Amino acid sequence: MFSPAPHKGNLVARLHGSGARKPILLLAHLDVVPALREDWSVDPFKLTEKDGYFYARGSSDDKYMASAFVTNLIRYKQEGYKPDRDIIVALETDEEILDANALGIQWLIKNHRDLIDAEFALNEGGGVGLENGKATRVSVQTTEKVSVSFALEVRDRGGHSSVPRKDNAIYRLAEGLVRLSNFSFPLHLNDTTRAYFDHVAQLEGGQTATDIRAMVADKPDTDAVARLSQSAGYNAQLRTTCVATMLSGGHAVNALPQTAGAKVNCRIMPGEPVEEVKATLERVLADDKIAVTQIDKGVISQPSALNEEILGSIEKLSAEFWPGAVVVPIMSAGATDGSYLRNAGIPTYGHSGMANDVSDLRAHGRDERVPVNSFYRGEEYLYRLVKMLSGGTS
Ligand SMILES: [Zn+2]
Repeated sequence: MFSPAPHKGNLVARLHGSGARKPILLLAHLDVVPALREDWSVDPFKLTEKDGYFYARGSSDDKYMASAFVTNLIRYKQEGYKPDRDIIVALETDEEILDANALGIQWLIKNHRDLIDAEFALNEGGGVGLENGKATRVSVQTTEKVSVSFALEVRDRGGHSSVPRKDNAIYRLAEGLVRLSNFSFPLHLNDTTRAYFDHVAQLEGGQTATDIRAMVADKPDTDAVARLSQSAGYNAQLRTTCVATMLSGGHAVNALPQTAGAKVNCRIMPGEPVEEVKATLERVLADDKIAVTQIDKGVISQPSALNEEILGSIEKLSAEFWPGAVVVPIMSAGATDGSYLRNAGIPTYGHSGMANDVSDLRAHGRDERVPVNSFYRGEEYLYRLVKMLSGGTS
Protein backbone atom coordinates (compact mmCIF):
# COMPACT_ATOMS: atom_id res chain seq x y z
CA MET A 1 0.00 0.00 0.00
CA PHE A 2 2.50 2.59 1.15
CA SER A 3 4.62 3.70 -1.67
CA PRO A 4 5.27 6.96 0.15
CA ALA A 5 6.82 9.07 -2.53
CA PRO A 6 8.77 11.93 -1.00
CA HIS A 7 8.65 14.81 -3.41
CA LYS A 8 9.95 18.20 -2.37
CA GLY A 9 8.58 17.60 1.12
CA ASN A 10 5.28 16.16 -0.10
CA LEU A 11 4.26 12.59 0.71
CA VAL A 12 1.77 10.42 -1.11
CA ALA A 13 0.45 7.03 -0.03
CA ARG A 14 -2.19 4.87 -1.65
CA LEU A 15 -4.40 1.99 -0.58
CA HIS A 16 -5.29 0.06 -3.69
CA GLY A 17 -8.92 -0.73 -4.31
CA SER A 18 -10.68 -2.76 -6.97
CA GLY A 19 -10.46 0.15 -9.37
CA ALA A 20 -14.20 0.14 -10.12
CA ARG A 21 -14.25 3.91 -9.63
CA LYS A 22 -11.82 6.80 -9.72
CA PRO A 23 -9.85 7.33 -6.47
CA ILE A 24 -10.66 9.55 -3.50
CA LEU A 25 -7.92 11.98 -2.51
CA LEU A 26 -7.44 12.83 1.18
CA LEU A 27 -5.37 15.98 1.39
CA ALA A 28 -3.70 17.57 4.41
CA HIS A 29 -0.83 19.98 4.79
CA LEU A 30 2.16 19.43 7.08
CA ASP A 31 3.48 22.98 7.32
CA VAL A 32 2.29 25.46 9.95
CA VAL A 33 2.31 29.21 10.43
CA PRO A 34 4.98 30.57 12.78
CA ALA A 35 4.32 30.81 16.53
CA LEU A 36 6.00 33.11 19.03
CA ARG A 37 7.10 30.95 21.96
CA GLU A 38 6.87 33.81 24.44
CA ASP A 39 3.19 34.42 23.55
CA TRP A 40 2.16 30.89 24.37
CA SER A 41 1.37 29.32 27.73
CA VAL A 42 2.95 26.04 26.52
CA ASP A 43 5.74 25.24 24.08
CA PRO A 44 4.04 25.66 20.67
CA PHE A 45 6.37 23.16 19.03
CA LYS A 46 5.77 20.31 21.45
CA LEU A 47 2.46 18.45 21.60
CA THR A 48 1.06 19.01 25.10
CA GLU A 49 -2.06 17.34 26.46
CA LYS A 50 -3.62 19.57 29.09
CA ASP A 51 -7.15 20.03 30.48
CA GLY A 52 -8.67 17.80 27.81
CA TYR A 53 -6.95 19.52 24.89
CA PHE A 54 -4.02 18.86 22.61
CA TYR A 55 -1.98 22.08 22.44
CA ALA A 56 0.49 22.68 19.63
CA ARG A 57 1.01 24.93 16.69
CA GLY A 58 -0.76 23.12 13.88
CA SER A 59 -2.86 20.93 16.16
CA SER A 60 -6.03 22.09 14.42
CA ASP A 61 -4.45 23.43 11.23
CA ASP A 62 -3.74 20.92 9.85
CA LYS A 63 -1.97 18.12 11.77
CA TYR A 64 -5.27 16.70 12.96
CA MET A 65 -6.37 15.83 9.43
CA ALA A 66 -2.91 14.57 8.45
CA SER A 67 -2.75 12.21 11.41
CA ALA A 68 -6.37 11.07 11.05
CA PHE A 69 -5.93 10.25 7.36
CA VAL A 70 -2.70 8.34 7.96
CA THR A 71 -4.07 6.46 11.00
CA ASN A 72 -7.18 5.47 9.07
CA LEU A 73 -5.23 4.33 6.02
CA ILE A 74 -3.15 2.05 8.26
CA ARG A 75 -6.32 0.78 9.91
CA TYR A 76 -7.95 -0.09 6.54
CA LYS A 77 -4.78 -1.92 5.54
CA GLN A 78 -4.61 -3.88 8.79
CA GLU A 79 -8.25 -4.89 8.42
CA GLY A 80 -7.68 -6.07 4.88
CA TYR A 81 -10.28 -3.56 3.67
CA LYS A 82 -10.78 -3.67 -0.09
CA PRO A 83 -12.34 -0.42 -1.30
CA ASP A 84 -13.99 -0.12 -4.69
CA ARG A 85 -11.63 2.73 -5.51
CA ASP A 86 -8.09 3.68 -4.50
CA ILE A 87 -7.76 5.81 -1.39
CA ILE A 88 -4.93 8.30 -1.70
CA VAL A 89 -3.46 10.27 1.19
CA ALA A 90 -1.37 13.27 0.17
CA LEU A 91 0.52 15.24 2.80
CA GLU A 92 1.78 18.43 1.30
CA THR A 93 3.93 21.39 2.15
CA ASP A 94 3.73 25.19 1.83
CA GLU A 95 -0.05 25.52 2.17
CA GLU A 96 0.36 28.30 4.70
CA ILE A 97 2.30 30.40 2.22
CA LEU A 98 -0.37 29.71 -0.40
CA ASP A 99 2.20 27.57 -2.18
CA ALA A 100 4.04 30.73 -3.22
CA ASN A 101 7.05 28.80 -4.57
CA ALA A 102 4.93 26.15 -6.29
CA LEU A 103 6.60 23.32 -4.33
CA GLY A 104 3.48 21.98 -2.64
CA ILE A 105 0.15 21.12 -4.23
CA GLN A 106 1.05 22.86 -7.48
CA TRP A 107 4.21 20.75 -7.74
CA LEU A 108 2.21 17.57 -7.21
CA ILE A 109 -0.41 18.57 -9.75
CA LYS A 110 2.21 19.52 -12.32
CA ASN A 111 4.69 16.66 -11.85
CA HIS A 112 2.70 13.80 -10.32
CA ARG A 113 -0.86 14.21 -11.36
CA ASP A 114 -0.99 10.42 -11.73
CA LEU A 115 -0.26 9.99 -8.00
CA ILE A 116 -3.03 12.28 -6.80
CA ASP A 117 -5.62 12.18 -9.58
CA ALA A 118 -9.05 11.57 -8.08
CA GLU A 119 -12.76 11.93 -8.62
CA PHE A 120 -12.90 14.30 -5.66
CA ALA A 121 -10.91 15.31 -2.60
CA LEU A 122 -11.52 15.83 1.09
CA ASN A 123 -9.50 18.65 2.59
CA GLU A 124 -9.44 21.07 5.52
CA GLY A 125 -11.83 24.02 5.68
CA GLY A 126 -15.07 22.78 7.27
CA GLY A 127 -15.49 21.51 10.82
CA VAL A 128 -18.22 20.79 13.35
CA GLY A 129 -19.42 23.80 15.35
CA LEU A 130 -20.13 23.34 19.06
CA GLU A 131 -22.21 25.81 21.02
CA ASN A 132 -22.27 25.29 24.78
CA GLY A 133 -20.87 21.84 24.19
CA LYS A 134 -23.60 20.84 21.73
CA ALA A 135 -22.91 20.28 18.02
CA THR A 136 -25.10 22.65 15.99
CA ARG A 137 -23.52 22.66 12.53
CA VAL A 138 -21.46 20.35 10.39
CA SER A 139 -19.76 22.37 7.69
CA VAL A 140 -18.86 21.34 4.18
CA GLN A 141 -16.66 23.90 2.49
CA THR A 142 -17.29 24.10 -1.25
CA THR A 143 -15.75 27.44 -2.08
CA GLU A 144 -13.42 29.99 -0.56
CA LYS A 145 -12.52 33.62 -0.57
CA VAL A 146 -9.50 34.72 -2.50
CA SER A 147 -6.52 36.02 -0.48
CA VAL A 148 -4.65 38.92 -2.11
CA SER A 149 -2.21 41.20 -0.31
CA PHE A 150 -1.21 44.76 -1.11
CA ALA A 151 1.76 46.87 -0.04
CA LEU A 152 1.03 50.49 0.85
CA GLU A 153 3.93 52.89 0.75
CA VAL A 154 4.46 56.59 1.33
CA ARG A 155 7.82 58.11 0.42
CA ASP A 156 9.12 61.44 1.59
CA ARG A 157 12.39 63.39 1.39
CA GLY A 158 12.78 63.16 5.20
CA GLY A 159 15.04 65.52 7.13
CA HIS A 160 16.02 66.36 10.69
CA SER A 161 13.37 65.63 13.31
CA SER A 162 14.17 68.93 15.06
CA VAL A 163 12.46 70.75 12.17
CA PRO A 164 9.32 68.69 11.53
CA ARG A 165 6.93 69.52 8.71
CA LYS A 166 3.20 68.94 8.68
CA ASP A 167 3.66 66.61 5.73
CA ASN A 168 4.99 63.37 7.21
CA ALA A 169 5.10 59.90 5.64
CA ILE A 170 4.02 58.13 8.82
CA TYR A 171 1.08 60.48 9.43
CA ARG A 172 -0.11 60.26 5.83
CA LEU A 173 -0.04 56.48 5.92
CA ALA A 174 -1.70 56.36 9.35
CA GLU A 175 -4.52 58.67 8.24
CA GLY A 176 -5.11 56.55 5.16
CA LEU A 177 -5.25 53.41 7.32
CA VAL A 178 -7.79 55.02 9.64
CA ARG A 179 -10.00 55.73 6.60
CA LEU A 180 -9.61 52.10 5.58
CA SER A 181 -10.50 50.90 9.08
CA ASN A 182 -13.78 52.82 8.89
CA PHE A 183 -14.72 51.39 5.52
CA SER A 184 -16.79 48.29 4.72
CA PHE A 185 -17.02 46.71 1.30
CA PRO A 186 -20.58 46.38 -0.02
CA LEU A 187 -22.73 43.36 0.81
CA HIS A 188 -22.07 40.50 -1.62
CA LEU A 189 -23.83 37.14 -1.28
CA ASN A 190 -23.46 34.04 -3.45
CA ASP A 191 -25.32 30.70 -3.63
CA THR A 192 -23.20 29.08 -0.92
CA THR A 193 -23.46 31.96 1.54
CA ARG A 194 -27.20 32.30 0.88
CA ALA A 195 -27.67 28.62 1.72
CA TYR A 196 -25.39 29.09 4.74
CA PHE A 197 -27.40 32.03 6.07
CA ASP A 198 -30.67 30.16 5.46
CA HIS A 199 -29.38 27.45 7.80
CA VAL A 200 -28.03 29.94 10.29
CA ALA A 201 -31.39 31.73 10.46
CA GLN A 202 -33.01 28.40 11.41
CA LEU A 203 -30.41 27.75 14.08
CA GLU A 204 -30.17 31.20 15.59
CA GLY A 205 -33.70 32.43 16.06
CA GLY A 206 -34.36 35.83 17.69
CA GLN A 207 -33.02 39.11 16.36
CA THR A 208 -30.22 37.43 14.38
CA ALA A 209 -32.72 35.31 12.44
CA THR A 210 -34.89 38.39 11.77
CA ASP A 211 -31.81 40.29 10.61
CA ILE A 212 -30.70 37.50 8.31
CA ARG A 213 -34.12 37.37 6.66
CA ALA A 214 -34.03 41.13 6.20
CA MET A 215 -30.50 40.84 4.81
CA VAL A 216 -31.19 38.16 2.19
CA ALA A 217 -34.32 39.98 0.99
CA ASP A 218 -34.38 41.56 -2.49
CA LYS A 219 -33.81 44.95 -0.92
CA PRO A 220 -31.44 44.21 1.99
CA ASP A 221 -32.22 46.16 5.14
CA THR A 222 -29.12 48.25 5.92
CA ASP A 223 -29.66 48.27 9.70
CA ALA A 224 -29.95 44.48 9.71
CA VAL A 225 -26.76 44.17 7.63
CA ALA A 226 -24.96 46.55 10.02
CA ARG A 227 -26.02 44.50 13.06
CA LEU A 228 -24.93 41.21 11.48
CA SER A 229 -21.63 42.77 10.42
CA GLN A 230 -20.71 43.31 14.07
CA SER A 231 -19.98 39.61 14.28
CA ALA A 232 -16.53 39.19 12.70
CA GLY A 233 -17.50 35.69 11.60
CA TYR A 234 -20.67 36.78 9.79
CA ASN A 235 -19.01 39.90 8.43
CA ALA A 236 -16.41 37.73 6.68
CA GLN A 237 -19.25 35.87 4.94
CA LEU A 238 -21.04 39.04 3.87
CA ARG A 239 -18.41 40.89 1.91
CA THR A 240 -14.84 41.30 0.77
CA THR A 241 -12.62 42.41 3.66
CA CYS A 242 -9.26 44.19 3.65
CA VAL A 243 -7.30 44.62 6.86
CA ALA A 244 -3.92 46.13 7.74
CA THR A 245 -1.65 43.37 9.05
CA MET A 246 1.90 44.82 9.05
CA LEU A 247 3.48 48.20 9.54
CA SER A 248 6.94 49.65 9.03
CA GLY A 249 8.49 53.08 8.68
CA GLY A 250 11.28 55.47 9.52
CA HIS A 251 14.98 54.75 9.90
CA ALA A 252 16.15 56.72 12.97
CA VAL A 253 14.49 58.08 16.07
CA ASN A 254 15.80 61.59 15.29
CA ALA A 255 15.05 61.67 11.55
CA LEU A 256 11.87 62.45 9.66
CA PRO A 257 10.61 59.26 8.03
CA GLN A 258 11.57 58.79 4.40
CA THR A 259 9.25 55.84 4.06
CA ALA A 260 6.20 54.45 5.79
CA GLY A 261 4.71 51.18 4.68
CA ALA A 262 1.90 48.81 5.54
CA LYS A 263 0.69 45.47 4.29
CA VAL A 264 -3.01 44.99 3.76
CA ASN A 265 -4.49 41.54 3.34
CA CYS A 266 -7.76 41.28 1.44
CA ARG A 267 -10.13 38.34 1.38
CA ILE A 268 -12.08 38.77 -1.80
CA MET A 269 -15.50 37.28 -2.53
CA PRO A 270 -15.24 34.71 -5.35
CA GLY A 271 -16.07 36.46 -8.61
CA GLU A 272 -14.97 39.97 -7.62
CA PRO A 273 -12.11 41.19 -9.83
CA VAL A 274 -8.87 41.91 -7.96
CA GLU A 275 -8.40 45.16 -9.93
CA GLU A 276 -11.72 46.43 -8.59
CA VAL A 277 -10.65 45.73 -5.02
CA LYS A 278 -7.38 47.58 -5.63
CA ALA A 279 -9.27 50.53 -7.11
CA THR A 280 -11.55 50.57 -4.06
CA LEU A 281 -8.53 50.55 -1.73
CA GLU A 282 -7.04 53.53 -3.57
CA ARG A 283 -10.33 55.40 -3.42
CA VAL A 284 -10.75 54.75 0.32
CA LEU A 285 -7.13 55.57 1.20
CA ALA A 286 -7.82 58.81 -0.69
CA ASP A 287 -4.22 60.00 -0.92
CA ASP A 288 -2.22 59.70 -4.11
CA LYS A 289 1.00 59.75 -2.08
CA ILE A 290 0.01 56.31 -0.75
CA ALA A 291 1.18 53.93 -3.47
CA VAL A 292 -0.76 50.65 -3.59
CA THR A 293 0.98 47.60 -5.09
CA GLN A 294 -0.42 44.10 -5.33
CA ILE A 295 2.21 41.73 -3.85
CA ASP A 296 0.77 38.30 -4.50
CA LYS A 297 -1.53 36.55 -6.88
CA GLY A 298 -4.92 35.32 -5.76
CA VAL A 299 -6.00 31.81 -6.68
CA ILE A 300 -9.47 32.15 -8.12
CA SER A 301 -11.54 28.97 -8.40
CA GLN A 302 -15.08 27.87 -9.11
CA PRO A 303 -17.14 26.34 -6.27
CA SER A 304 -17.35 22.53 -6.12
CA ALA A 305 -20.87 21.19 -6.61
CA LEU A 306 -22.09 18.81 -3.89
CA ASN A 307 -23.34 15.55 -5.35
CA GLU A 308 -25.90 13.25 -3.77
CA GLU A 309 -23.44 10.50 -2.82
CA ILE A 310 -21.15 12.83 -0.91
CA LEU A 311 -23.79 15.03 0.71
CA GLY A 312 -26.02 12.03 1.49
CA SER A 313 -23.16 10.15 3.19
CA ILE A 314 -22.19 13.22 5.19
CA GLU A 315 -25.78 13.82 6.31
CA LYS A 316 -26.34 10.20 7.26
CA LEU A 317 -23.14 9.85 9.25
CA SER A 318 -23.39 13.30 10.85
CA ALA A 319 -26.84 12.42 12.19
CA GLU A 320 -25.24 9.50 13.97
CA PHE A 321 -22.19 11.37 15.29
CA TRP A 322 -23.78 14.75 16.03
CA PRO A 323 -27.56 14.26 16.28
CA GLY A 324 -29.52 17.44 15.68
CA ALA A 325 -26.67 19.29 13.99
CA VAL A 326 -27.38 20.72 10.55
CA VAL A 327 -25.12 20.01 7.58
CA VAL A 328 -24.29 23.40 6.08
CA PRO A 329 -22.40 24.26 2.89
CA ILE A 330 -19.92 27.02 3.60
CA MET A 331 -17.52 29.41 1.96
CA SER A 332 -14.20 29.63 3.81
CA ALA A 333 -13.09 33.13 4.65
CA GLY A 334 -9.57 31.72 4.66
CA ALA A 335 -7.78 30.19 1.71
CA THR A 336 -6.76 26.54 1.37
CA ASP A 337 -5.13 24.45 -1.32
CA GLY A 338 -8.64 23.37 -2.31
CA SER A 339 -8.55 26.17 -4.90
CA TYR A 340 -5.61 24.60 -6.72
CA LEU A 341 -7.33 21.22 -6.78
CA ARG A 342 -10.61 22.74 -7.96
CA ASN A 343 -8.76 24.50 -10.75
CA ALA A 344 -7.10 21.19 -11.67
CA GLY A 345 -10.57 19.69 -12.15
CA ILE A 346 -10.75 17.79 -8.85
CA PRO A 347 -13.86 18.88 -6.90
CA THR A 348 -12.79 19.50 -3.32
CA TYR A 349 -14.75 19.55 -0.10
CA GLY A 350 -13.45 21.01 3.13
CA HIS A 351 -14.75 18.62 5.72
CA SER A 352 -12.84 17.56 8.81
CA GLY A 353 -15.23 16.04 11.34
CA MET A 354 -13.36 18.03 14.01
CA ALA A 355 -15.74 19.44 16.60
CA ASN A 356 -14.73 22.64 18.29
CA ASP A 357 -16.46 25.45 20.12
CA VAL A 358 -17.41 28.14 17.59
CA SER A 359 -15.95 30.79 19.89
CA ASP A 360 -12.67 28.94 20.45
CA LEU A 361 -11.06 28.81 17.02
CA ARG A 362 -7.34 29.32 17.48
CA ALA A 363 -5.81 28.29 14.17
CA HIS A 364 -2.92 30.68 13.40
CA GLY A 365 -3.37 32.21 16.88
CA ARG A 366 -1.82 31.67 20.29
CA ASP A 367 -2.35 28.49 22.28
CA GLU A 368 -3.79 26.64 19.29
CA ARG A 369 -5.56 23.53 20.54
CA VAL A 370 -8.11 20.84 19.78
CA PRO A 371 -10.28 18.95 22.25
CA VAL A 372 -8.86 15.46 22.78
CA ASN A 373 -12.23 13.73 22.49
CA SER A 374 -13.07 15.66 19.30
CA PHE A 375 -9.74 14.58 17.88
CA TYR A 376 -10.46 10.87 18.25
CA ARG A 377 -14.13 11.19 17.36
CA GLY A 378 -13.26 13.11 14.21
CA GLU A 379 -10.74 10.48 13.25
CA GLU A 380 -13.41 7.78 13.68
CA TYR A 381 -15.90 9.86 11.67
CA LEU A 382 -13.47 10.23 8.77
CA TYR A 383 -12.69 6.51 8.97
CA ARG A 384 -16.40 5.73 8.54
CA LEU A 385 -17.06 8.43 5.96
CA VAL A 386 -14.24 7.41 3.64
CA LYS A 387 -15.40 3.81 3.97
CA MET A 388 -18.94 4.79 2.99
CA LEU A 389 -17.58 6.67 -0.01
CA SER A 390 -15.44 3.76 -1.14
CA GLY A 391 -18.13 1.07 -0.74
CA GLY A 392 -15.83 -1.87 -0.39
CA THR A 393 -15.75 -4.93 1.83
CA SER A 394 -13.66 -5.94 4.80
ZN1 LIG B 1 -4.57 24.87 7.02
